Amino acid sequence: MTSAAWPVRRVGIVGAGTMGAGIATSCATAGLAVTLVDARAEALTAGLARVATQVESAVRKGRLTAGEAGAARSRIAGTASLADLAAADLVIEAAFENLAVKQGIFGELGRICRAGTVLATNTSTLNVDAIASASGRAADVVGMHFFSPAHVIRLVEIVRGRASSAGAIATACATAERLGKAAVVVGNCFGFVGNRMLYAYGREKEFMLLEGATPEQIDRALESFGMAMGPNAVGDLAGLDVGASARREWRDRPDDPRFYRASDLLAGLGRYGQKTGRGFYRYDAAGGARVADPEVAELLRSEAARLGVAARAVSDAEIIARCMAALVNEGARVLGEGIAASPADVDTIWCNGYGFPKARGGPLRYADARGLAGVLEDVERFGREFGARYWTPAPLLVELAQLPGGFYDWQARRGGP
Ligand code: NAD
Repeated sequence: MTSAAWPVRRVGIVGAGTMGAGIATSCATAGLAVTLVDARAEALTAGLARVATQVESAVRKGRLTAGEAGAARSRIAGTASLADLAAADLVIEAAFENLAVKQGIFGELGRICRAGTVLATNTSTLNVDAIASASGRAADVVGMHFFSPAHVIRLVEIVRGRASSAGAIATACATAERLGKAAVVVGNCFGFVGNRMLYAYGREKEFMLLEGATPEQIDRALESFGMAMGPNAVGDLAGLDVGASARREWRDRPDDPRFYRASDLLAGLGRYGQKTGRGFYRYDAAGGARVADPEVAELLRSEAARLGVAARAVSDAEIIARCMAALVNEGARVLGEGIAASPADVDTIWCNGYGFPKARGGPLRYADARGLAGVLEDVERFGREFGARYWTPAPLLVELAQLPGGFYDWQARRGGP
Protein backbone atom coordinates (compact mmCIF):
# COMPACT_ATOMS: atom_id res chain seq x y z
CA MET A 1 0.00 0.00 0.00
CA THR A 2 1.44 3.38 -0.88
CA SER A 3 0.76 6.37 1.27
CA ALA A 4 1.63 10.04 1.13
CA ALA A 5 4.64 11.20 3.10
CA TRP A 6 4.02 13.67 5.92
CA PRO A 7 5.89 16.97 5.67
CA VAL A 8 9.25 17.01 7.45
CA ARG A 9 10.95 20.30 8.31
CA ARG A 10 12.40 19.68 11.76
CA VAL A 11 14.48 16.63 12.50
CA GLY A 12 15.63 15.53 15.94
CA ILE A 13 18.73 13.33 16.16
CA VAL A 14 19.47 11.44 19.37
CA GLY A 15 23.15 10.61 19.86
CA ALA A 16 25.91 12.90 18.55
CA GLY A 17 28.46 10.13 17.92
CA THR A 18 29.86 8.89 14.61
CA MET A 19 26.47 8.26 13.04
CA GLY A 20 24.44 11.05 14.67
CA ALA A 21 26.93 13.70 13.52
CA GLY A 22 26.98 12.40 9.94
CA ILE A 23 23.18 12.23 9.82
CA ALA A 24 22.99 15.78 11.22
CA THR A 25 25.36 17.04 8.50
CA SER A 26 23.31 15.29 5.84
CA CYS A 27 20.00 16.75 7.13
CA ALA A 28 21.28 20.30 7.66
CA THR A 29 22.92 20.53 4.24
CA ALA A 30 19.65 19.31 2.70
CA GLY A 31 17.82 22.27 4.28
CA LEU A 32 16.25 20.62 7.32
CA ALA A 33 16.33 22.17 10.80
CA VAL A 34 18.21 19.83 13.14
CA THR A 35 18.17 19.44 16.90
CA LEU A 36 21.06 17.21 17.93
CA VAL A 37 20.71 15.61 21.37
CA ASP A 38 23.38 13.88 23.42
CA ALA A 39 23.19 12.92 27.06
CA ARG A 40 26.92 13.68 27.56
CA ALA A 41 28.04 17.32 27.18
CA GLU A 42 31.48 16.38 25.81
CA ALA A 43 29.93 14.05 23.22
CA LEU A 44 27.60 16.84 22.10
CA THR A 45 30.48 19.29 21.75
CA ALA A 46 32.54 16.73 19.82
CA GLY A 47 29.55 15.87 17.59
CA LEU A 48 28.87 19.53 16.74
CA ALA A 49 32.59 19.97 15.96
CA ARG A 50 32.46 16.92 13.67
CA VAL A 51 29.47 18.42 11.84
CA ALA A 52 31.40 21.69 11.38
CA THR A 53 34.39 19.78 9.95
CA GLN A 54 32.17 17.79 7.57
CA VAL A 55 30.47 20.97 6.32
CA GLU A 56 33.87 22.66 5.87
CA SER A 57 35.14 19.69 3.92
CA ALA A 58 32.09 19.87 1.61
CA VAL A 59 33.02 23.49 0.86
CA ARG A 60 36.65 22.55 0.11
CA LYS A 61 35.45 19.82 -2.25
CA GLY A 62 33.16 22.28 -4.03
CA ARG A 63 29.96 20.49 -2.96
CA LEU A 64 28.69 23.50 -0.97
CA THR A 65 29.24 27.24 -1.35
CA ALA A 66 30.42 29.20 1.69
CA GLY A 67 26.92 30.70 1.94
CA GLU A 68 25.24 27.27 1.88
CA ALA A 69 27.66 26.04 4.53
CA GLY A 70 26.83 28.97 6.79
CA ALA A 71 23.11 28.34 6.32
CA ALA A 72 23.59 24.61 7.08
CA ARG A 73 25.47 25.42 10.30
CA SER A 74 22.78 27.85 11.39
CA ARG A 75 20.14 25.10 11.05
CA ILE A 76 21.72 22.93 13.77
CA ALA A 77 21.12 23.33 17.49
CA GLY A 78 22.55 21.10 20.20
CA THR A 79 20.90 20.11 23.47
CA ALA A 80 21.13 17.58 26.29
CA SER A 81 17.38 17.25 26.65
CA LEU A 82 15.02 14.99 24.69
CA ALA A 83 12.23 17.39 25.74
CA ASP A 84 13.57 19.80 23.10
CA LEU A 85 12.30 17.39 20.42
CA ALA A 86 8.63 18.20 21.09
CA ALA A 87 8.33 20.12 17.79
CA ALA A 88 10.21 17.58 15.63
CA ASP A 89 8.49 16.04 12.60
CA LEU A 90 10.95 13.14 12.53
CA VAL A 91 13.36 11.85 15.17
CA ILE A 92 16.30 9.64 14.20
CA GLU A 93 17.84 7.79 17.13
CA ALA A 94 21.56 6.97 16.82
CA ALA A 95 22.49 6.25 20.45
CA PHE A 96 24.44 3.23 21.73
CA GLU A 97 23.62 -0.16 20.19
CA ASN A 98 21.94 -1.46 23.31
CA LEU A 99 18.29 -2.50 23.52
CA ALA A 100 17.67 -1.15 27.03
CA VAL A 101 19.17 2.24 26.09
CA LYS A 102 17.09 2.46 22.94
CA GLN A 103 13.91 1.32 24.68
CA GLY A 104 14.45 4.00 27.33
CA ILE A 105 14.82 6.67 24.64
CA PHE A 106 11.77 5.49 22.67
CA GLY A 107 9.69 5.41 25.86
CA GLU A 108 10.53 9.07 26.42
CA LEU A 109 10.08 10.02 22.76
CA GLY A 110 6.64 8.39 22.80
CA ARG A 111 5.61 10.78 25.55
CA ILE A 112 7.44 13.90 24.35
CA CYS A 113 6.78 13.95 20.61
CA ARG A 114 3.48 15.04 19.15
CA ALA A 115 1.19 12.58 17.35
CA GLY A 116 2.33 12.14 13.77
CA THR A 117 6.05 12.50 14.51
CA VAL A 118 7.90 9.60 12.92
CA LEU A 119 10.30 7.90 15.32
CA ALA A 120 13.18 6.15 13.56
CA THR A 121 16.03 4.03 14.89
CA ASN A 122 19.39 3.68 13.18
CA THR A 123 20.04 0.31 14.82
CA SER A 124 22.14 -2.15 12.79
CA THR A 125 21.43 -5.32 14.71
CA LEU A 126 18.58 -4.87 17.19
CA ASN A 127 14.97 -5.83 16.64
CA VAL A 128 13.02 -2.78 15.45
CA ASP A 129 9.78 -4.26 16.90
CA ALA A 130 11.35 -4.57 20.36
CA ILE A 131 12.39 -0.91 20.20
CA ALA A 132 8.98 0.15 18.80
CA SER A 133 7.06 -1.60 21.56
CA ALA A 134 8.71 0.64 24.17
CA SER A 135 7.35 3.79 22.50
CA GLY A 136 3.68 3.08 23.16
CA ARG A 137 3.04 4.09 19.52
CA ALA A 138 4.64 1.41 17.38
CA ALA A 139 2.79 2.55 14.23
CA ASP A 140 5.01 5.65 14.16
CA VAL A 141 8.26 3.68 14.50
CA VAL A 142 10.49 2.55 11.61
CA GLY A 143 14.16 1.75 11.12
CA MET A 144 16.29 4.22 9.17
CA HIS A 145 19.54 2.32 8.76
CA PHE A 146 22.23 4.74 7.55
CA PHE A 147 25.73 3.65 6.57
CA SER A 148 29.02 5.11 7.75
CA PRO A 149 30.10 7.81 6.91
CA ALA A 150 26.43 8.82 6.97
CA HIS A 151 26.93 12.16 5.22
CA VAL A 152 28.63 10.39 2.29
CA ILE A 153 27.12 6.94 1.69
CA ARG A 154 24.06 7.18 -0.50
CA LEU A 155 21.92 4.48 1.03
CA VAL A 156 19.33 4.16 3.78
CA GLU A 157 17.53 0.91 4.49
CA ILE A 158 14.04 1.80 5.71
CA VAL A 159 13.04 -1.01 8.04
CA ARG A 160 9.36 -1.89 8.17
CA GLY A 161 8.42 -3.02 11.67
CA ARG A 162 5.43 -5.26 12.35
CA ALA A 163 3.27 -2.23 13.22
CA SER A 164 4.90 0.54 11.12
CA SER A 165 2.23 2.60 9.38
CA ALA A 166 2.37 3.23 5.63
CA GLY A 167 2.58 6.97 6.36
CA ALA A 168 5.59 6.53 8.63
CA ILE A 169 7.36 4.39 6.01
CA ALA A 170 6.58 6.88 3.23
CA THR A 171 7.82 9.77 5.38
CA ALA A 172 11.11 8.01 6.19
CA CYS A 173 11.61 7.20 2.48
CA ALA A 174 10.85 10.74 1.34
CA THR A 175 13.24 12.18 3.93
CA ALA A 176 16.07 9.81 2.92
CA GLU A 177 15.51 10.80 -0.71
CA ARG A 178 15.56 14.47 0.25
CA LEU A 179 19.04 13.78 1.69
CA GLY A 180 20.07 12.49 -1.74
CA LYS A 181 20.05 8.86 -0.64
CA ALA A 182 18.58 5.75 -2.24
CA ALA A 183 15.85 4.61 0.17
CA VAL A 184 15.08 0.89 0.11
CA VAL A 185 12.27 -0.56 2.24
CA VAL A 186 13.30 -3.86 3.86
CA GLY A 187 11.79 -6.31 6.33
CA ASN A 188 12.85 -6.63 9.94
CA CYS A 189 15.35 -9.45 10.55
CA PHE A 190 18.89 -9.70 11.89
CA GLY A 191 21.11 -7.61 9.62
CA PHE A 192 18.14 -6.56 7.45
CA VAL A 193 19.18 -7.08 3.79
CA GLY A 194 22.62 -5.54 3.42
CA ASN A 195 24.38 -6.74 6.57
CA ARG A 196 22.71 -10.14 6.45
CA MET A 197 24.23 -10.68 3.00
CA LEU A 198 27.49 -9.14 4.20
CA TYR A 199 27.71 -11.73 6.95
CA ALA A 200 27.55 -14.54 4.38
CA TYR A 201 30.16 -12.90 2.12
CA GLY A 202 32.42 -12.04 5.06
CA ARG A 203 32.04 -15.49 6.61
CA GLU A 204 33.70 -17.09 3.59
CA LYS A 205 36.59 -14.62 3.45
CA GLU A 206 37.17 -15.24 7.17
CA PHE A 207 37.30 -19.01 6.57
CA MET A 208 39.72 -18.54 3.68
CA LEU A 209 42.00 -16.45 5.94
CA LEU A 210 42.31 -19.52 8.18
CA GLU A 211 42.73 -21.85 5.20
CA GLY A 212 45.79 -19.97 3.97
CA ALA A 213 44.80 -16.89 1.95
CA THR A 214 46.36 -13.63 3.15
CA PRO A 215 44.28 -10.48 3.78
CA GLU A 216 45.95 -8.74 0.84
CA GLN A 217 45.33 -11.66 -1.52
CA ILE A 218 41.63 -11.68 -0.65
CA ASP A 219 41.30 -7.92 -1.03
CA ARG A 220 43.20 -7.86 -4.32
CA ALA A 221 41.07 -10.68 -5.76
CA LEU A 222 37.76 -9.03 -4.83
CA GLU A 223 38.97 -5.61 -5.95
CA SER A 224 39.92 -7.15 -9.29
CA PHE A 225 36.32 -8.40 -9.49
CA GLY A 226 35.31 -4.76 -9.05
CA MET A 227 34.52 -4.32 -5.34
CA ALA A 228 35.38 -0.74 -4.35
CA MET A 229 37.39 -2.06 -1.39
CA GLY A 230 38.31 -5.56 -0.27
CA PRO A 231 36.54 -6.84 2.84
CA ASN A 232 39.62 -6.83 5.09
CA ALA A 233 40.38 -3.21 4.26
CA VAL A 234 36.68 -2.43 4.90
CA GLY A 235 36.93 -4.13 8.29
CA ASP A 236 39.97 -2.01 9.17
CA LEU A 237 38.12 1.13 8.11
CA ALA A 238 34.95 0.38 10.07
CA GLY A 239 36.87 -0.90 13.12
CA LEU A 240 37.34 -4.60 13.87
CA ASP A 241 36.22 -3.92 17.45
CA VAL A 242 32.82 -2.68 16.19
CA GLY A 243 32.10 -5.96 14.35
CA ALA A 244 33.46 -8.04 17.23
CA SER A 245 31.18 -6.37 19.77
CA ALA A 246 28.12 -6.71 17.49
CA ARG A 247 28.86 -10.44 17.11
CA ARG A 248 29.13 -10.83 20.89
CA GLU A 249 25.54 -9.58 21.21
CA TRP A 250 24.30 -11.82 18.41
CA ARG A 251 22.23 -14.56 20.05
CA ASP A 252 21.92 -16.92 17.04
CA ARG A 253 25.58 -16.68 16.08
CA PRO A 254 26.79 -20.07 14.82
CA ASP A 255 28.52 -22.23 17.41
CA ASP A 256 31.69 -22.56 15.35
CA PRO A 257 35.15 -21.56 16.63
CA ARG A 258 36.20 -20.62 13.08
CA PHE A 259 33.31 -18.19 12.62
CA TYR A 260 34.77 -14.67 12.10
CA ARG A 261 37.74 -15.90 14.11
CA ALA A 262 40.31 -13.88 12.16
CA SER A 263 38.57 -10.55 12.84
CA ASP A 264 37.82 -11.43 16.46
CA LEU A 265 41.41 -12.54 17.05
CA LEU A 266 42.83 -9.25 15.76
CA ALA A 267 40.22 -7.19 17.64
CA GLY A 268 41.11 -9.10 20.82
CA LEU A 269 44.74 -8.06 20.35
CA GLY A 270 43.78 -4.39 20.12
CA ARG A 271 44.35 -4.41 16.36
CA TYR A 272 41.15 -2.47 15.58
CA GLY A 273 42.19 -1.30 12.11
CA GLN A 274 42.95 2.20 10.87
CA LYS A 275 42.13 3.87 14.17
CA THR A 276 44.89 1.95 15.99
CA GLY A 277 47.27 1.91 13.01
CA ARG A 278 47.05 -1.88 12.88
CA GLY A 279 44.36 -4.36 11.90
CA PHE A 280 44.48 -6.73 8.94
CA TYR A 281 47.09 -4.26 7.64
CA ARG A 282 49.55 -1.75 9.06
CA TYR A 283 48.87 1.95 8.52
CA ASP A 284 52.03 3.94 8.97
CA ALA A 285 50.36 7.36 8.89
CA ALA A 286 46.84 8.54 9.75
CA GLY A 287 44.71 8.08 6.64
CA GLY A 288 47.77 6.49 5.00
CA ALA A 289 47.93 3.56 2.60
CA ARG A 290 47.55 0.01 3.85
CA VAL A 291 50.69 -2.10 4.09
CA ALA A 292 50.71 -5.90 4.32
CA ASP A 293 51.76 -7.05 7.79
CA PRO A 294 53.66 -10.37 7.99
CA GLU A 295 52.74 -10.55 11.69
CA VAL A 296 49.07 -11.00 10.70
CA ALA A 297 49.88 -13.87 8.34
CA GLU A 298 51.81 -15.47 11.22
CA LEU A 299 48.95 -14.95 13.71
CA LEU A 300 46.47 -16.48 11.27
CA ARG A 301 48.67 -19.48 10.56
CA SER A 302 49.09 -20.34 14.23
CA GLU A 303 45.39 -19.77 14.97
CA ALA A 304 44.44 -22.06 12.05
CA ALA A 305 46.79 -24.73 13.40
CA ARG A 306 45.25 -24.39 16.88
CA LEU A 307 41.78 -24.86 15.35
CA GLY A 308 42.90 -27.80 13.22
CA VAL A 309 42.29 -26.02 9.89
CA ALA A 310 44.68 -27.48 7.31
CA ALA A 311 46.76 -24.94 5.39
CA ARG A 312 46.46 -25.02 1.60
CA ALA A 313 46.80 -22.75 -1.40
CA VAL A 314 43.61 -20.78 -2.07
CA SER A 315 43.33 -19.42 -5.60
CA ASP A 316 42.01 -15.96 -6.51
CA ALA A 317 39.29 -17.69 -8.54
CA GLU A 318 38.13 -19.59 -5.46
CA ILE A 319 38.08 -16.39 -3.39
CA ILE A 320 35.78 -14.70 -5.88
CA ALA A 321 33.60 -17.76 -6.47
CA ARG A 322 33.09 -18.52 -2.76
CA CYS A 323 32.37 -14.94 -1.73
CA MET A 324 29.98 -14.38 -4.64
CA ALA A 325 28.17 -17.72 -4.24
CA ALA A 326 27.63 -16.98 -0.53
CA LEU A 327 26.44 -13.45 -1.32
CA VAL A 328 24.00 -14.49 -4.04
CA ASN A 329 22.66 -17.46 -2.07
CA GLU A 330 21.86 -15.18 0.90
CA GLY A 331 20.42 -12.61 -1.52
CA ALA A 332 18.11 -15.31 -2.89
CA ARG A 333 17.10 -16.14 0.65
CA VAL A 334 16.18 -12.56 1.66
CA LEU A 335 14.28 -12.23 -1.60
CA GLY A 336 12.47 -15.54 -1.18
CA GLU A 337 11.54 -14.65 2.41
CA GLY A 338 10.17 -11.27 1.32
CA ILE A 339 12.73 -9.36 3.46
CA ALA A 340 13.69 -7.67 0.18
CA ALA A 341 10.81 -6.82 -2.13
CA SER A 342 12.69 -7.18 -5.42
CA PRO A 343 16.05 -8.13 -6.96
CA ALA A 344 16.51 -4.46 -7.84
CA ASP A 345 16.21 -3.53 -4.15
CA VAL A 346 18.95 -6.00 -3.24
CA ASP A 347 21.16 -4.67 -6.01
CA THR A 348 20.52 -1.02 -5.08
CA ILE A 349 21.58 -1.78 -1.51
CA TRP A 350 24.78 -3.52 -2.55
CA CYS A 351 25.80 -1.00 -5.22
CA ASN A 352 25.10 2.05 -3.03
CA GLY A 353 26.07 0.81 0.42
CA TYR A 354 28.71 -1.90 -0.02
CA GLY A 355 30.80 -0.90 -3.03
CA PHE A 356 29.56 -3.68 -5.33
CA PRO A 357 30.60 -2.72 -8.88
CA LYS A 358 27.78 -0.76 -10.52
CA ALA A 359 28.97 -1.98 -13.92
CA ARG A 360 27.89 -5.48 -12.88
CA GLY A 361 24.49 -4.18 -11.77
CA GLY A 362 24.52 -5.73 -8.30
CA PRO A 363 24.85 -9.28 -6.93
CA LEU A 364 21.56 -10.55 -8.33
CA ARG A 365 21.99 -8.92 -11.76
CA TYR A 366 25.48 -10.47 -11.81
CA ALA A 367 24.00 -13.87 -10.90
CA ASP A 368 21.45 -13.55 -13.71
CA ALA A 369 24.21 -12.72 -16.21
CA ARG A 370 26.26 -15.66 -14.99
CA GLY A 371 23.25 -18.02 -15.11
CA LEU A 372 21.53 -19.29 -11.96
CA ALA A 373 22.28 -22.92 -12.79
CA GLY A 374 26.00 -22.07 -12.59
CA VAL A 375 25.56 -20.24 -9.27
CA LEU A 376 23.63 -23.19 -7.84
CA GLU A 377 26.35 -25.55 -9.03
CA ASP A 378 28.91 -23.47 -7.10
CA VAL A 379 26.78 -23.52 -3.93
CA GLU A 380 26.37 -27.31 -4.21
CA ARG A 381 30.06 -27.84 -4.95
CA PHE A 382 31.10 -25.78 -1.91
CA GLY A 383 28.55 -27.72 0.13
CA ARG A 384 30.23 -30.99 -0.85
CA GLU A 385 33.66 -29.54 -0.13
CA PHE A 386 33.03 -27.58 3.09
CA GLY A 387 29.83 -29.11 4.46
CA ALA A 388 26.15 -28.26 4.19
CA ARG A 389 26.08 -26.10 7.32
CA TYR A 390 26.67 -22.82 5.49
CA TRP A 391 25.93 -24.03 1.99
CA THR A 392 22.29 -25.06 1.90
CA PRO A 393 21.01 -23.64 -1.39
CA ALA A 394 18.29 -21.00 -0.95
CA PRO A 395 14.91 -22.45 -2.06
CA LEU A 396 14.41 -19.59 -4.53
CA LEU A 397 17.80 -20.24 -6.13
CA VAL A 398 16.96 -23.94 -6.53
CA GLU A 399 13.57 -23.09 -8.04
CA LEU A 400 14.85 -20.48 -10.47
CA ALA A 401 17.95 -22.43 -11.54
CA GLN A 402 15.59 -24.87 -13.29
CA LEU A 403 13.80 -22.15 -15.24
CA PRO A 404 14.91 -19.94 -18.08
CA GLY A 405 15.87 -16.39 -17.06
CA GLY A 406 16.86 -15.31 -13.59
CA PHE A 407 15.81 -13.24 -10.59
CA TYR A 408 14.73 -10.25 -12.67
CA ASP A 409 12.59 -12.39 -15.01
CA TRP A 410 10.97 -13.98 -11.96
CA GLN A 411 10.19 -10.52 -10.61
CA ALA A 412 8.66 -9.46 -13.94
CA ARG A 413 6.52 -12.65 -13.99
CA ARG A 414 5.11 -11.84 -10.57
CA GLY A 415 4.35 -8.32 -11.76
CA GLY A 416 6.86 -6.41 -9.68
CA PRO A 417 9.25 -3.60 -10.60
P1 NAD B 1 28.69 6.24 19.07
O1 NAD B 1 29.08 5.50 20.28
O2 NAD B 1 29.74 6.93 18.26
O3 NAD B 1 27.62 7.38 19.47
C1 NAD B 1 26.51 7.15 20.29
C2 NAD B 1 26.20 8.46 21.03
O4 NAD B 1 24.93 8.31 21.68
C3 NAD B 1 27.21 8.82 22.11
O5 NAD B 1 27.71 10.11 21.87
C4 NAD B 1 26.39 8.77 23.40
O6 NAD B 1 26.79 9.76 24.35
C5 NAD B 1 24.98 9.00 22.90
N1 NAD B 1 23.96 8.47 23.78
C6 NAD B 1 23.92 7.26 24.37
N2 NAD B 1 22.81 7.12 25.11
C7 NAD B 1 22.11 8.27 24.97
C8 NAD B 1 20.87 8.74 25.47
N3 NAD B 1 20.12 7.98 26.30
N4 NAD B 1 20.44 9.97 25.11
C9 NAD B 1 21.19 10.73 24.30
N5 NAD B 1 22.38 10.34 23.79
C10 NAD B 1 22.83 9.13 24.12
O7 NAD B 1 27.87 5.23 18.18
P2 NAD B 1 27.66 5.22 16.58
O8 NAD B 1 28.75 4.43 15.94
O9 NAD B 1 27.36 6.60 16.10
O10 NAD B 1 26.34 4.32 16.46
C11 NAD B 1 25.07 4.82 16.79
C12 NAD B 1 24.00 3.87 16.30
O11 NAD B 1 24.11 3.73 14.89
C13 NAD B 1 24.10 2.46 16.87
O12 NAD B 1 22.81 1.95 17.04
C14 NAD B 1 24.84 1.72 15.78
O13 NAD B 1 24.58 0.33 15.79
C15 NAD B 1 24.24 2.35 14.54
N6 NAD B 1 25.06 2.25 13.34
C16 NAD B 1 26.41 2.44 13.39
C17 NAD B 1 27.15 2.36 12.23
C18 NAD B 1 28.64 2.59 12.25
O14 NAD B 1 29.31 2.23 11.28
N7 NAD B 1 29.20 3.18 13.31
C19 NAD B 1 26.52 2.12 11.00
C20 NAD B 1 25.12 1.96 10.97
C21 NAD B 1 24.41 2.04 12.14
